[in-house]
Amino acid sequence: MRFAWCNAMALALAASVAVVDAASPVEQPILREIANSPDPVQLQATVQALVGFGTRHSLSDTTSPRRGIGAARRWTQSRFAEIGRGCGGCLTIVTPSQTVTGERVPKPTEIVDVVAIQQGTVDPERVIVLTGHIDSRVSDPMNATADAPGADDDASGVAVVIEAARILSRHQFPATIVYGVLSGEEQGLYGGKVLADYAKAQGWRVEADLNNDIVGAIRGENGVVDNTRLRVFSEGTRDTETAEEAKQRRFEGGENDSASRNVARYAKAVAESYMSNWTVALVYRLDRFRRGGDHSAFNALGFPAVRFTENAENYRHQHQDVRIEGGVEFGDTLANVDFAYLAKVTATNALTAASMASAPPPPVNVKIAGAVTPDTQLSWTESLGLPAAGYRVHWRDTSEAAWTHVRDAGVGGTLTLANIAIDDFAFGVASVSADGFESPVVFPGAAGAFWAH
Ligand SMILES: [Zn+2]
Repeated sequence: MRFAWCNAMALALAASVAVVDAASPVEQPILREIANSPDPVQLQATVQALVGFGTRHSLSDTTSPRRGIGAARRWTQSRFAEIGRGCGGCLTIVTPSQTVTGERVPKPTEIVDVVAIQQGTVDPERVIVLTGHIDSRVSDPMNATADAPGADDDASGVAVVIEAARILSRHQFPATIVYGVLSGEEQGLYGGKVLADYAKAQGWRVEADLNNDIVGAIRGENGVVDNTRLRVFSEGTRDTETAEEAKQRRFEGGENDSASRNVARYAKAVAESYMSNWTVALVYRLDRFRRGGDHSAFNALGFPAVRFTENAENYRHQHQDVRIEGGVEFGDTLANVDFAYLAKVTATNALTAASMASAPPPPVNVKIAGAVTPDTQLSWTESLGLPAAGYRVHWRDTSEAAWTHVRDAGVGGTLTLANIAIDDFAFGVASVSADGFESPVVFPGAAGAFWAH
């Protein structure tokens, strides 16, 4: 009897917790399957093929069938075409380009991205983008002829994008997923801009760019070996914030809640729910210190975007002539990439994209009120696209990294949290589909909005 009583109490307690601060996330079989799908053998084949083109420098040969960035891009295009044939033509391939000159591009040069588009079934203009860069370099950034294997930087990122396409193209999603293989990164972050500009010109509402750059190695230059941790970098305040919006944010808070940062939190939450012994570590910084990546071109147009990078980098394996010096090996070679780890990075990307593309779009016009009252009120408007079956309000202590509290808000556009002081927490709203997929959380006001309008 005593046992039964305890059980009943435990059930009652569990039930009350579920009602008050609901929502252990729904287990989604499709996400479970995706988590287990990335294949280290496929990833290795991609990195090996790309290294095999000798150099993929953005100023290298574009006509040779065997060497240079042209051959590497054509190979990528043929891989996307092959994957597209496997899903009954579900991928549309485009090659947006811009001709640029710059400090590291002395003569006008065409920067070409290879992009596969898996169109969404309900709101095709809502887009989740996965990116990596195909170009590589050695010590001299202008040397377009020496062998530049670029296995980790960034054949690893390209392999993630192609493997994610192979896995996700087996399924259909309400939103569009775009697989972008970018050029010109090492010459001045050109390929990210090419794709971001293309997205804007197409009228895409980019919900996130997940950029993968240097994601394949597990041994840092400092001797740290860790195959359980991936870093995700995100801007804290949006690049496109106006002076007026900055003033409002200083007054109301939101310096840690750009849409990009809430995409980073989302990736962490989804990946860690479906993968064991795996940490997606939030880094509160746009990118590595004084270094850049292609996601920033999306941020520059107001699109949410984050960068994934391995746990601890080895600078002897980046941007180096392949050589041995004083008994130490330099160069970005195949031997330094760990394909089991790269499979986990792929799973992180594929899970995040699949979950986001299955969920309704995040709500817009999110507002908050409650100054000099004991309660907090949130309101929001439904986004265009897949209708939400409900909403959830999340909140956390202002010093917490992740959302810690959640309450179902039903189908309406408002929720009042009684006796929860607006001063003490960060708040946000997510939309939820009928089958339980949740969007990223939107922090109120311009600071947290996913789309400017
Ligand atoms: Zn790179």
